[in-house]
Amino acid sequence: MLKGKTALVTGSTSGIGLGMARAMAAEGANIVLNGFGDEGEIEAARAGLAKDCGVEVAYSGADMSKPAEIVAMVEEAEARFGAIDILVNNAGIQYTATIEDFPVEKWDAVIAINLSSAFHTTRAALPKMRARGWGRIINTASAHGLVASVEKSAYIAAKHGIVGLTKVTALETAGSGITCNAICPGWVLTPLVQTQIDARAARSGLDEAATITAMLDRQPTKQFVTVEQIGGLACFLCSDAAAQMTGVPIPIDGGWVAQ
Ligand code: NAD
Repeated sequence: MLKGKTALVTGSTSGIGLGMARAMAAEGANIVLNGFGDEGEIEAARAGLAKDCGVEVAYSGADMSKPAEIVAMVEEAEARFGAIDILVNNAGIQYTATIEDFPVEKWDAVIAINLSSAFHTTRAALPKMRARGWGRIINTASAHGLVASVEKSAYIAAKHGIVGLTKVTALETAGSGITCNAICPGWVLTPLVQTQIDARAARSGLDEAATITAMLDRQPTKQFVTVEQIGGLACFLCSDAAAQMTGVPIPIDGGWVAQ
């Protein structure tokens, strides 16, 4: 379905981003991976994806908190592949504390990586998408882009912000062959969430299983969403069936925001 297209997925060295990159590579898209991690593991993931799916896979170590590195990443991807057809703004970090205790530098980092990076990538990638008359921009928001929880002020502000950016991008590109939508996952068991499980377990004294049960209280199905399910939704958004879907925050959250 995506043969001949190129997808740049920010924050794709683990978790949801890697899941979306895998799903798109399986549909034939060339991939630009991005994110941090162990150099050997990243190279193994890059080479494995290329071999398994018969596509080209590049890697950029650009830091999504640094606008100049973001622009350079987009330019390098365009120089190699011609254009970025599919842009997935997925890189994200979490930090939890009440507002009074929230360190200013953590606020700035969460807003930069989870929100501003999507503005910088979109701004840089749009001209070539417009020239081709086709594009898909998928922003990873969250159930926390639609509803709030305590102790996540920066994350929730960023995720509500990216839902707003999604709507503006959709309106500014309407009718051009480009769509922009936001995926809003509930709990997905990735390294980002494992850190929260460990912290909660240490704080409460509960074991891991009991901590997970307590966390899934917000998610009516009581099951984690999987990265494969999110990859499937991302591929659907790239399909012709989704050509008239734009500006939508789409929950994939086991019923979380239905409550
Ligand atoms: P993860 O920690 O597994 O992945 C985060 C990715 O972002 C990694 O590849 C990491 O290297 C990259 N990254 C972090 N800081 C970066 C930076 N400065 N520059 C470039 N890359 C950077 O976490 P995940 O759960 O897969 O999260 C991916 C996205 O999904 C995030 O935007 C997160 O907010 C969102 N999300 C996650 C959940 C969940 O339950 N896991 C739910 C809703 C939304």
